Amino acid sequence: MNIFLASSEVHPYSKTGGLADMVGALGKTMVQAGHRVGVVTPLYLGVRERFPRMMRLGLPLDFPLGMNRASGEAWSLEPMEGLTVYFVDQPALFQRSGLYEQYGIDYADNAERFMFFSKAVVHLALHLPRKPEVLHLHDWQTAFAAVFIHHQRRLPQWHAAPRTCLTVHNMAYQGLFPASQYALANLPWDYFVPDGVEFYGQTNYLKAGIAFADLLATVSPRYAREITTPEYGCGLDGLLRHRSAALSGILNGVDYDEWNTTKNPCLPYPYSVNDLTGKSANKRELQREFGLPEIGDVPLFGSIGRLVDQKGVDIMLGALEQMLGANLQFVLLGAGMPRFECAFRALASRFPSQVAVRIGFDQALSHRIEAGSDFFLMPSRFEPCGLNQMYSLRYGTIPVVRATGGLDDTVIDIRDDRDRANGIKFSVYSSPALAKAIRKALALYAEPELLQWFRRNAMAADFSWEWTAKQYVALYERMLATARPQPTG
Ligand code: ADP
Repeated sequence: MNIFLASSEVHPYSKTGGLADMVGALGKTMVQAGHRVGVVTPLYLGVRERFPRMMRLGLPLDFPLGMNRASGEAWSLEPMEGLTVYFVDQPALFQRSGLYEQYGIDYADNAERFMFFSKAVVHLALHLPRKPEVLHLHDWQTAFAAVFIHHQRRLPQWHAAPRTCLTVHNMAYQGLFPASQYALANLPWDYFVPDGVEFYGQTNYLKAGIAFADLLATVSPRYAREITTPEYGCGLDGLLRHRSAALSGILNGVDYDEWNTTKNPCLPYPYSVNDLTGKSANKRELQREFGLPEIGDVPLFGSIGRLVDQKGVDIMLGALEQMLGANLQFVLLGAGMPRFECAFRALASRFPSQVAVRIGFDQALSHRIEAGSDFFLMPSRFEPCGLNQMYSLRYGTIPVVRATGGLDDTVIDIRDDRDRANGIKFSVYSSPALAKAIRKALALYAEPELLQWFRRNAMAADFSWEWTAKQYVALYERMLATARPQPTG
């Protein structure tokens, strides 16, 4: 099959979160399964310098963008046979220090940036010599492409347009802009209706994709159910219920080539389920790196992630306050809202022998934290899939998670299944509930044999991409087997 993935971030070229990991790994795995894959993403600052083998494609990009025109060009890179990555180069829009924001403030022209990108995605999908059968879009930054493809089907050459699939990685980010920004699409206003792009008088990029993509997916089965409810649907639950026949939940996978404990350049000491001495050595190294007392028998909790409301930062701070009287250590790597960064820094200065934080983004350190910690805290308010809990499992680091979205689908509590238990789950979103879960972790730590049992189960859990990629391909095949959508205009 010929598949085209479109995403505003793709590992290893750009990344702010799990989206980049997902698209990078999905493309690679589909190629390994024998498919031909194109990936299209913006050319951000510094990418060409890091990947100098990139070549100019010679396919000019020149589109109306509301009252103006914008032009750019495309570059391509073939990181492996069967996989071509296309970079959309528009320096004024993409050559910036951040992907979406600077100093916590979204770029004022994000509507223009990602409308241009969505137009470029469609242009490439329609004009590359090898036309994709499936255009797989990811999140609001590419969602508008589904409307353009839908619109293509009104035109005489409509049959050349690929089928579209949109994966929603997070309902909380919708690309919501003033109504006037709809003009950037240069489409008739009949798409700007409550059944389409309009959302309470505004232009909603994600809603555009949800309304017009042929297929919809999200990144875990439980999140797929959750987003059809008012609590998690972020205002789009009604439309999602309406489109529920087209909606699937497919769990993201883990790239075990990168996230493993045996052959990993980021880890000082390799280890495996049969020999955990390396894990203890990594723990000591981590304590040293963070300036904490190097004590072997103190339970060490780690956490990594964006410091935003979604991640349950407030209840994590509250629970730590309650629990720091106990014998435990905590290390954090994260960046995000200044008030959360300050709160963690303050906690570390009040409890210097127990709490240490690094504010920033550091991929190699994230591996060392996963390996050196005994427990991993992920008390998310909501979590579409979550990757760190799956990394934790492979690293034998017991995840302590709130039972929501992908966290609930991937972690097994002893109350769910005594034999396969690999983590600790709690349900109520509150500091006392998380503190109670931490107390359970301390009790588990005090029983080395049970802890070892959990670790064995954790390290045996398998979320490889082969399974995820197969699910998506099966979904595409079902879509391609159905009758082509008919021209609507
Ligand atoms: P989300 O996509 O909502 O941020 P996920 O758990 O799905 O959450 O994915 C987050 C990814 O980003 C993981 O690979 C995680 O290790 C990584 N990550 C998040 N924050 C940091 C950070 N400060 N430093 C290094 N890696 C980080």
